[in-house]
Amino acid sequence: MMIKQNMTQLDTRAGHWVIVSKERIIIRKGEKTIPSGHVSQFNFLTSYLEDVHELPPLSPDTDVLNDPVYVVDMGAEMVQEEEWEAVPLRHLLYEQQTIIFSVIGRAWQYVHFLRTHRFCGKCGSHTERVNWEMAVHCHRCHHRSYPRVSPCIIVAIHNKQALLLAKGVRHKEANMYSTLAGFVESGESLEEAVHREVFEEVGVKVKNLQYFDSQPWPFPHSIMVGFIAEYAGGDIRCQENEIDDAQWFKPDALPTIPPRVSIAGKLIEETLSIIENQ
Ligand SMILES: [Zn+2]
Repeated sequence: MMIKQNMTQLDTRAGHWVIVSKERIIIRKGEKTIPSGHVSQFNFLTSYLEDVHELPPLSPDTDVLNDPVYVVDMGAEMVQEEEWEAVPLRHLLYEQQTIIFSVIGRAWQYVHFLRTHRFCGKCGSHTERVNWEMAVHCHRCHHRSYPRVSPCIIVAIHNKQALLLAKGVRHKEANMYSTLAGFVESGESLEEAVHREVFEEVGVKVKNLQYFDSQPWPFPHSIMVGFIAEYAGGDIRCQENEIDDAQWFKPDALPTIPPRVSIAGKLIEETLSIIENQ
């Protein structure tokens, strides 16, 4: 125990801390963001000091946080101290500005990657974390794995004065209507995925696809690629087990929609302004 305490005193690490316990993030009770400070402020991390990873930086443009970001995975261990609480990632992301959103989201994906790549996918041996990049390496067969990124398309569809929004079966209780989205399949272009997903989910055809924006979405490792499309034909027919309801909504009679921090919220906002300016 003495040795650990001395290590904490000598440890100079200070910055932002993304601490993961089970499927939650540890924050100071009552706060809405991740904690910052010197490692000595986190007594409950004493036995994890050797497992703290500094999040490898991205480009200077996206890394607007000047201080380092440290990631710690406590696994199934929980923090029992009163001033700390564990919150779901989603709860935290909706409170954040884009910058923090990308940092927490990236750290979360890194933890998820390490949790699911403890063994080599090729030969089954234990893997080791690579120090200088986000990767794990197998020393037996030299196979190296990187965090998976799964592309998803997300599309807002407009038809003269209305916007098509759908309520997914999974969001039925929240009664929230949103844009359509789905994973890109192997061998498919982003545009093909838009046409296929839209037709599968609501039975309509679209045209004049315009790229809008993209956003990493850490549930668990997607990149959402946003498009705006015009309606080209067909009647709404909801896909069973996926879509609970889909309708054309007028801008002055919108249902509950996602917050602006998500790309879905931004897509809806942009499409409403297209409709108004027609
Ligand atoms: Zn291997």
